[in-house]
This record gives sequence, structure tokens and C-alpha cells, in this order.
Amino acid sequence: MKLELIKSDDPRLKQVCEEVVDFENKQFYLELINEIKKLCIEQYAFAAAAPQFGINKRFIVMVSAVEKKVRNIQELQQFEDHYETTIYFNPRITLMRGLTYYYEACMSTGEVIGKVARPHYIEFDYQDIDGNSLHRSAEGFEARCFCHEIDHLDGIEFLDKAEDITYNADLNKRIEVRNKYPQKTISTDCEFDQSGINPEFRTKIYIKK
Ligand SMILES: [Zn+2]
Repeated sequence: MKLELIKSDDPRLKQVCEEVVDFENKQFYLELINEIKKLCIEQYAFAAAAPQFGINKRFIVMVSAVEKKVRNIQELQQFEDHYETTIYFNPRITLMRGLTYYYEACMSTGEVIGKVARPHYIEFDYQDIDGNSLHRSAEGFEARCFCHEIDHLDGIEFLDKAEDITYNADLNKRIEVRNKYPQKTISTDCEFDQSGINPEFRTKIYIKK
């Protein structure tokens, strides 16, 4: 299986993805997880979403949700990570709280970095690889990773809502920016306000019927 990483100008990244229903194809997804994991590690990415590979399905793969506090590429290469890779099918955010800022990047946009407002805490429903319905929460850096990837499933890229964007930011530059502006938590419990974000780029909240 060879994955094709598609780039920002590809219309497939702007689509709203379809629900996953084919849980009988477990073997296919297991192979896919493996390929996505390899690519993420190679690219120092924390996670990825199906549409980044031209796959129109609602799933994300979390490879590492540990913020890598390093000063340079050498330290990044030596960073010990445990890579507990997990796939989340049909993730739906049910609650967002608090406010944090951090500089995000993405495999699809390449050498770009920009500041994005995200909730400090989220709760979401999802299905595991066997199709079981589950619910979990995440906070801080991990919540940010989930929000970034879940946005991809709705055709939203981080650049759609980023401020203070730096282009031509290679890996060195991205490390430098993140050292200069570490993740900033404004509040852990305020209501996450998306009024400053263009309505079409707001992270979708699923309301249970
Ligand atoms: Zn991304």
C-alpha cells in the first residue's frame, strides 16, 4: 500500500468526508494505520486525517500527542516517543471548553506555521476499529491535535483559521517559532468562543438528538 500525501491546493482536502460504515474491512484499516504511522514519524507529524491521503472517509490516526519541547532538529531526532497509535472512526466533538493558543503546522501545508485558537478541553464520541461506540475526553496539546484532525474531516485546514502565519518555515524555523511562543493556556474552563472564526471554518460541535 503506497500512500499519497496530498497538498493544500487539492480540492479533496476541502470536502466533507463520509461516515465510515465498513468495519468488516479491519485488515485494510490495520494496514493503513501502519502506513500512516510510518509517514507521520518520518514527517514529525503528531497525527493525520484520511482526506490528507485522498481518502474520503471520517477517520483520524493519532500517532503521538506528546508536545515535543526541543531546541533544534538534533534534539527532535533524539526525542523518545512511545507512539501509541490509535485510529478514531467517525469522531464527533460533543463539548469544547477553555481557550489555548499554539503555533500549528500540517503535513498537507508543508513549510507553514500559524497561531490557532483551540479549546483546552474537549469531549467526543467515536468508534474503534471494531465499530464499538465510545466516548472520551482530551485536554491541552492532545485536545488541539484532535481538533486539528477532526477539522480535516469537514474540509477545514488550520490555515483557514490561523493568525500570524509564517510561510517558508522549514523545520528549523517551526521549532524556533514554537520555542519563542510555547502553548499558551488562556482559560481551562471558559466557554470556547468561535465568534472570531469565519463560520465556515469553525470546528463542528455534534449535538445529540
Ligand atoms: Zn493537518
